[in-house]
Amino acid sequence: MHKDWIAADSDHVWHPYSAIGADFPVFPVQSAHGVRLRLADGRELIDGMSSWWCAIHGYNHPKLNRAVEEQLADMAHVMFGGLTHRPAVELAQRLVALTPEPLQTVFFADSGSVAVEVAMKMAIQYWAAKGETGKQRFLTIRHGYHGDTLGAMSVCDPVTGMHSLFSATLPQQVFVAAPECPFGSPSCEDDSQAMAAALQEQAGKIAAVILEPIVQGAGGMRFYSADYLRRVRSLCDQHGVLLIADEIATGFGRTGKLFACEHAGIAPDILCLGKALTGGYLTLAATLTTRDVSHTIACEAPGLFMHGPTFMANPLACATALASIQLLLESPWQARVQHIEHGLRNGLEPCRELDHVSDVRVLGAIGVVELTLALDMKSVQPMFVERGVWVRPFGRLVYLMPPFVIDDEDLLTLTDAVVSVVRSLNQASGRLSPAGRVQ
Ligand SMILES: *Cc1c(COP(=O)(O)O)cnc(C)c1O
Repeated sequence: MHKDWIAADSDHVWHPYSAIGADFPVFPVQSAHGVRLRLADGRELIDGMSSWWCAIHGYNHPKLNRAVEEQLADMAHVMFGGLTHRPAVELAQRLVALTPEPLQTVFFADSGSVAVEVAMKMAIQYWAAKGETGKQRFLTIRHGYHGDTLGAMSVCDPVTGMHSLFSATLPQQVFVAAPECPFGSPSCEDDSQAMAAALQEQAGKIAAVILEPIVQGAGGMRFYSADYLRRVRSLCDQHGVLLIADEIATGFGRTGKLFACEHAGIAPDILCLGKALTGGYLTLAATLTTRDVSHTIACEAPGLFMHGPTFMANPLACATALASIQLLLESPWQARVQHIEHGLRNGLEPCRELDHVSDVRVLGAIGVVELTLALDMKSVQPMFVERGVWVRPFGRLVYLMPPFVIDDEDLLTLTDAVVSVVRSLNQASGRLSPAGRVQ
């Protein structure tokens, strides 16, 4: 029975960045509770991924379950065209109150990629409404990740985003080198020269700079200096270009601040949120913007913002997001994230001395071990499962971002597993190679 449906999976079901028939291992999950995933064969794994940044409160949380159930009793969904509902309005108010002051209006999207598409379309419509129809391109930094739809993909790193494969379809954007100055470095003047030069030359055709503030996630797990972000903000102002901050991964406390922009004390013109917004329960994202952007779009033809997803502001998702934010703010999340940061630093430190490790870095509840070579996911993934943890490395990166509710013992099990697996991945293991595929 169990074998049957697993066989059906490999016959019929696509997984993220995988292929039908590719013979990558997939592990059937029966249930999840707290920081544990329970596999169909009864094994329990400690979750080191928060299901890709989302499950900050752990799984099966009674308060979030209750929020879903209570909303379900009223309505699971209604269209948002011409109708509205309390969960959406209250969530919008909450997000406006929590995010930097200039951000005053909220567009609810159904995934992070769509929130990025919405942000890009807002920027283009803003300039078009001001008569600047030539401002249709985006400026971004390498190593970024903004989602998998075509617009979002066009601002992802060209190499890991495989732009050449889609070159006839993808809009051509402007890329500059990513900042080299690591988080904590006081000044990044040199790093910002490339951005300054690109804006100097091309601001007339650029609608917005888009980037992930402080932490570049899936494009390389890089942490850069707050000074760089401040410089980008002022360059955008100087050259009449909007700034889009993609906080889909960093939002809701992961980096030690509620939003990563707070490390630099800046406000973007447009902010994308997603992932942890519903605590990992339901798919929901949001694009926030200023009165200036909202009013300018409203004032000129077509007088409407040209986007409206079918599942916009899904009430179940909005009600769960409200409960998740409440839960976060009532919790000692800052102390927890700091404590996790400390545990990750100590726990991952032994990796640093290994020859095939090029860097170990930690920020907030994110711990990264970067290898000199790419690892073979197919053979490495089961090594973590054997050690009772769920860790999903990719390319040259092994990283942890556990739920904020993890305790010391489970965190130690996670970091010990990473150290042990990474240690065993020396060149002789045959599990490292120069050209890893992106997974
Ligand atoms: C995950 C992610 C996205 C895309 O979100 P989806 O919900 O997967 O579409 C966009 N930007 C960043 C920074 C992300 O981490």
